[in-house]
Amino acid sequence: MAEPVKTHCPYCALQCGMAISATASGITITPRTDVPANAAGALCQKGWTAADLLTNGARLTSPLLHGRPVDWDVALGHVADRLSAIRLEHGPDGVAVFGGGGLTNEKAYLLGKLARVALGTSQIDYNGRFCMSSAAAASIRAFGMDRGMPFPVTDLAGADVVLLAGANPAETMPPFVRHLDGPRLIVVDPRRTATARLAWLHLRPAPGTDLALALGLLHLAVAEDLVDAAYVEERTSGFDAVRTSLAAWWPERVERITGVPVPRMREAVRALAYAKNAYVLTGRGAEQHAQGTDTVTAFVNLALALGLPGRLGSGYGCLTGQGNGQGGREHGQKADQLPGYRRIDDPAAREHVAGVWGVDPGDLPGPGRSAFELLEALGTPAGPKAMLLFGSNPVVSAPDSARVAERIRSLDLLVVCDVVMSETAALADVVFPVTQWAEETGTMTNLEGRVLLRRQAVRPPPGVRSDLEVIAGLARRLGHDFADEPGKVFEELRRASAGGPADYSGITYDRITGETEDPGETHGGGDVPYGGEVRDRADDRGGAEVGVFWPCPAPGHPGTPRPFLEAFATPGGRARFVPVEHRGPAEEIDDDYPVYLTTGRVLAHYQSGAQTRRIAALAAAVPEPYVELHPDLAGRLDIGAGDLVRVTSRRGQGQGVARISDAIRSDTVFMPFHWEGANRLTNPALDPTSRMPEFKVCAVRVERVT
Ligand code: SF4
Repeated sequence: MAEPVKTHCPYCALQCGMAISATASGITITPRTDVPANAAGALCQKGWTAADLLTNGARLTSPLLHGRPVDWDVALGHVADRLSAIRLEHGPDGVAVFGGGGLTNEKAYLLGKLARVALGTSQIDYNGRFCMSSAAAASIRAFGMDRGMPFPVTDLAGADVVLLAGANPAETMPPFVRHLDGPRLIVVDPRRTATARLAWLHLRPAPGTDLALALGLLHLAVAEDLVDAAYVEERTSGFDAVRTSLAAWWPERVERITGVPVPRMREAVRALAYAKNAYVLTGRGAEQHAQGTDTVTAFVNLALALGLPGRLGSGYGCLTGQGNGQGGREHGQKADQLPGYRRIDDPAAREHVAGVWGVDPGDLPGPGRSAFELLEALGTPAGPKAMLLFGSNPVVSAPDSARVAERIRSLDLLVVCDVVMSETAALADVVFPVTQWAEETGTMTNLEGRVLLRRQAVRPPPGVRSDLEVIAGLARRLGHDFADEPGKVFEELRRASAGGPADYSGITYDRITGETEDPGETHGGGDVPYGGEVRDRADDRGGAEVGVFWPCPAPGHPGTPRPFLEAFATPGGRARFVPVEHRGPAEEIDDDYPVYLTTGRVLAHYQSGAQTRRIAALAAAVPEPYVELHPDLAGRLDIGAGDLVRVTSRRGQGQGVARISDAIRSDTVFMPFHWEGANRLTNPALDPTSRMPEFKVCAVRVERVT
C-alpha cells in the first residue's frame, strides 16, 4: 500500500495536519502529530469528515455555460471574449475580481496578477475583508505589521492567563483549545459559548460594547497602578494620549454601557497584570463591527499597557478564521495590496512587483473598492459589469445579502469557480469546476504566520481543473503568459514578495516539508529584552515538518516565529498606543426592532456552508438554521423550542427553528450564518479604516411563524 500523503485540513486557519490514504476501498484521514497546531493528534468533526468533500456526489465536473455542460475551451473562450468586450465598452474597471481567504497563496497571488496585469482592473478584493481586516488594520497601526498571532500557537500553553475577546475556538477550532489547557481563561462574549463554559471568568458585554469594555479595563489598569511602566517607557510610544483619553471611561460608566459588573472587570485586569505570562487574543466578535479596528486597538492598548506584546511567553494575537486567512491577505487579492503585504500606493512596491511581472509600474492600477463596496457597485452605472469569483459565496456570506444577490443578478457576466453549485454559482453565466485541497498542491499560511504545504493526495475527478489553470487559461486568451503549475507560481511569488513585510523569498516547498537542511537557530528569539530565557526552540523546528514562519528573506534565513521580540515593525521599533473612543453599534435597538441579533459559527459547519451542508454527517449534526433565544424573551414572544421563528431587520427577513437557552442574553438572539437568512439581516455599516461590515450586531424584530 502506498505511503499516506501528508497534507492539511481543507477548512480553518489552524490548518491541522492530516495524512491521507487513498485505496480502492476509499479515502482515509488520520491526524498527524508532526504539526504543532494539532500535535496531540486531534481533528474536529469537520476535519474527520473532510474526505467526503472529495467524493461528494454534488461535485461539479464540467464547465457550465448558462447551465449547460460545455467543453473547457468553449467556456474559457466565451469568458475571454465577453471580458474583452466589456473592457472595451466600460474600461478595465468594468471587470471585477472577487477572491477568498481559503485560496492557497499561489492562487491568491495569481488572481492579483490576473486583475492587475491581464485585466488592468483596480476592482479586486476578497472575502477576508469580512473576516479579520479590522485586526489586521489594528495590528499595522500598533505594531507596523500584521502577522495574526506573532508567536507559535504552542507558546500559549505556558501562559498563566489568556484573555479571549470575541473568539469561540471550542466551537470553531477545537484542537486549538488544547493549547489553552494550562492558562486561566478570561472570555469576553455576550453568549455563554462552548469556550465561555471553559472560562475561569466570563465577561458578557452587550453586543457592540466590547470597545467600551476594553476602555474600562485599561482605565482600571491605570487607576490601580498595574501598568508596566518600564515596558511602556522602553518599547512604546503614545501612552500619555491614551491615558488622558481614558478619563471619560470610569468603570461605573462602562458597567452601565456594557452590563459587565465592575468587580468582574477588576478581577480580569488584576489576573492579567499579576500573571507572569499572559496573552490577549481577539476574534471576529471584537472585529466585525463598524468600530472593529478601534475595538481591537483598545484591546491592543490594554495588552501594551500590561507589557505583553513582543515579550517571550506573552503577547497579543488575532485568531484568523479562514484556512488561508493570513496568507490570503498577503499576496495581492486585497484591493489595496501587492504581493508581500505591500501597499499598492507605495511607489517602491509598485516598481518592485512590476519588475517581477515585466510591466511598467505606471500601468499597474491603484487601489480599488473594498469587498462590500465592490459588491454594492456591481451593475451600477459607475460599477463593474462583470465579475470573476473564486472561493467565495457572497449570496450567503455578504452582509445585507439579498441586496448583494440583486446586484450580482444585474451583472452582464458572472463567472464562478467552485467545487459545488453554491448559491452564488447558481446565478453564474459560466461555472468552472475546480480542484480542492487534497487534489492539488499549494501553500497555506496558518493563523501563526507559519507557511505550510498542502500536498496533492488524490487525483481530481475527470473534467475538473485547478483555479490556477483557469486563471492562466484566461490570461493566455487575453494575451498574457502566466505559469499555472503551483511550484512555478510559488517561485514567482517568492520573488514578488522579496523585500516586503510578508517576505517569502527564503521559503521553498522543500524547506516547508523539512526535506532540505534547516538553518536551525530561529530568528526572533535571540536577545530577548523581556520575558526571560528562550525555552522552547525545539518547537520552532524540532526536526518535525512544521513549516516556515514569515518573514523569511533569504534561503539561509531560519524564518521568524516571534517577529516582535527585539523590535516592532514601526519606523522607530516602538509599538504605538492609539487613543480610541467607544461609539456604540451603528444600529441601536428601538421600539420597531427591539432585540439585538448577533451571528456566528457552529462546530459542524464552515463559512457559507456550501461544503459542509453537503456532508451527510455534518448536515445531520446541524441540519437547519436556528434562532437561539433566552427563555425570558421566548416567554414574552410566546415562542417554544422547535417553533419556526421569523427574524426581521431593516434589510430583510430570515427564519430558523427556535432554540431556547439561557446562554444568550435576554435582549439578544443568535443565528449561525451558514445558511441564507442570517446575512439578509446583517448591517453593512463599514468600519472607516478596515471597511469591515458590522456582522456582529444589528437590531431585529422576532416573531413566531404561525
Ligand atoms: Fe480542520 Fe480547523 Fe477542524 Fe483543524 S480545527 S480539523 S483545521 S476545521
